[in-house]
Amino acid sequence: MRQPLIIGNWKMNGSLTENEKLLNTISTSLITIEGIEIVVCPPSLYMAQVKQQLSKTKIKHGAQNVSEFQSGAYTGEISTSMLGELGCCFVLLGHSERRALYHENDAQIADKFSAAVKANIRPVLCVGETLSQRQCGETFSVIAKQIKTVIEQVGIEAFAQAVVAYEPVWAIGTGETATPEQAQAVHANIRHQLAEYDVNIANRIHIIYGGSVNASNAQALFMQQDIDGGLVGGASLNSDEFVKICQATNEIF
Ligand code: PEP
Repeated sequence: MRQPLIIGNWKMNGSLTENEKLLNTISTSLITIEGIEIVVCPPSLYMAQVKQQLSKTKIKHGAQNVSEFQSGAYTGEISTSMLGELGCCFVLLGHSERRALYHENDAQIADKFSAAVKANIRPVLCVGETLSQRQCGETFSVIAKQIKTVIEQVGIEAFAQAVVAYEPVWAIGTGETATPEQAQAVHANIRHQLAEYDVNIANRIHIIYGGSVNASNAQALFMQQDIDGGLVGGASLNSDEFVKICQATNEIF
């Protein structure tokens, strides 16, 4: 049984005051929730604040990106050891916004994945197709390639502590969501691909869905057999909505 996982991706949003308010509400409202793992990913600059404010709760915190390098002349970058010092236990990698806006490619994402695993930070490998790729029938092949490059570079064993997030690019921040059936088909395919390398890892790994998840669609998505929770962007900034998503998820399992 895979314990459901909900990760909030704040993207480049927040302020000291807003974060404090958001964290206060979600940590108070979710205090009795036992059955699911909850993670928030603030901008890295706020990691110390988030660590401190969540210290007496079960809510964990993660980062939205990390450097593939350990230290040195990489202006503007943040290393895995820095994240580790701030109690960060997850890191999003290969988010479609980073692939599109910052030209991250599969090989670089694999290097980041490897750095995260070495630092004992769980990588959340984001994969997904664009609308035109879906319309051309390329969804499965695009995602298979994104995952294969990482497996070939870091080895399947590194996936033992990883999470895969299926995020159709056309559903991110658009209000459009994959139907539960569309998402389930992709999740099952991802699990099948991983099983070709290692059945145990494929059975244990969390494959979560992201793309305009909200309190109204979360349950139907997360009830699918191969959907183990969600990566929540916009709705994770709204405390009521995020709490309802977590509560709805908790009811299923
Ligand atoms: C995301 O940023 O990973 C995401 C899924 O965003 P949204 O929920 O806003 O679509």
